[in-house]
Amino acid sequence: MGRISWNQYFMAQSYLLKSRSTCERLAVGAVVVRDKRMIAGGYNGSVTGGVHCIDEGCYVVGGHCVRTIHAEMNALLQCSKFGVATDGAEIYVTHFPCIHCTKAIIQAGIKAVYYSEDYKNDPYAIELLQQAGVRTKKVLLQVDPVHYEQQQLVSELLEELESQGHSGLDGWKKKADRLFHVPTEQKS
Ligand SMILES: [Zn+2]
Ligand SMILES: [Zn+2]
Repeated sequence: MGRISWNQYFMAQSYLLKSRSTCERLAVGAVVVRDKRMIAGGYNGSVTGGVHCIDEGCYVVGGHCVRTIHAEMNALLQCSKFGVATDGAEIYVTHFPCIHCTKAIIQAGIKAVYYSEDYKNDPYAIELLQQAGVRTKKVLLQVDPVHYEQQQLVSELLEELESQGHSGLDGWKKKADRLFHVPTEQKS
């Protein structure tokens, strides 16, 4: 049984954080990573102590909800709040960052942006990222943590049966692989 890749590991975290979002328009999660360690995370929500979009409805101006601080900004501001350097770090976001977050990401010295879902990918943001030499990579989330544990359990059961001398398990293995869509991306 292979371990999940670093990309899947960090992207799965950003999806977990996204589930704390308080905005009804779009839920986003972000994780800042340095040397393969998560140093901060955020989701889009109101300023501390403010009312939530989920309670009061979004505060929309010019087609955007202006109440929330975006996930990427929350993650970077967490670093500034606690004095953690972001220079040379990477960021994992569930959605392609908006132009404002993109500028903050570049200015914070982030060197790579991994995103899972396209979201109105701003051409100017793409241009700025390229100019700044920030790598961008689309990483589709293939691992759901619970799903992964189920996959592990089935795999262990099959290995146990095999070690006890049961034969003819190939059909079951194939069925398990089909059910869990086993990703082959490992060891990155
Ligand atoms: Zn909102
Ligand atoms: Zn943003």
